[in-house]
Amino acid sequence: MIEKKYRTALNDLIIYLKKSRFLNDSKVESAFQNIPRHEFVVPSELDRAYYNEPLSIMNNQTISQPGVVSRMTEWLDIKDGQKILEIGTGSGWQTAILSYLVRNGTVHSVERHPELAKFARKNLEKLGIDNTHVILGDGSLGYPEESPYDRIIITAACTKIPQPLLEQLGENGLIIAPVGDSSQSLILLKKTSGKIVEIKNESNYVFVPLLGKFGKK
Ligand code: SAM
Repeated sequence: MIEKKYRTALNDLIIYLKKSRFLNDSKVESAFQNIPRHEFVVPSELDRAYYNEPLSIMNNQTISQPGVVSRMTEWLDIKDGQKILEIGTGSGWQTAILSYLVRNGTVHSVERHPELAKFARKNLEKLGIDNTHVILGDGSLGYPEESPYDRIIITAACTKIPQPLLEQLGENGLIIAPVGDSSQSLILLKKTSGKIVEIKNESNYVFVPLLGKFGKK
């Protein structure tokens, strides 16, 4: 449970996200209630932890905006016991939200910055979260060691979804990613009978770029 000091700010954020239709699912709301965002921000941003804004963390990266995290998480329709791959761990907050929803399942999350991988591991550990695995590496290659995945989430902008990630998605699996150049569309794809089918598409998002072999050079 979130300590009293932050509770009003969190409740106000949840009311705003529900009104603006970025938060509709009671399970995702419960994840927001139980995974304190202020445990994933740097000390200078603590007062803004429950603003609906991305906040600077380190290495010129950001903890994602709450409305974007709720939208992506809801579209992923996570079920107990699934295996999830996340590309771009950042602070680990989205990782923790996924871990809450997947319960007996596992979240593998790949981050390219050593300082961020360390920051995220520390944040997850202090909350006693033990069904996540943060990997230091180039997430544009995915993490073939644990594939296939039921769900894949890319939290950085790609011009094209990296082919290795499509290959590592299991049958009937869902993958979500922001795709585009200066502005991106959030795209949800499903693998059915080996084919990739678009399920949802919503424009006007802005993410930091996905770098790496199959990302921006
Ligand atoms: N969802 C995270 C959170 O709530 O803290 C924030 C993710 S941040 C918007 C995007 C992250 O993707 C950054 O931490 C960045 O370093 C990472 N990233 C970019 N390209 C990557 C790559 N090729 N492999 C792994 N991580 C990458």
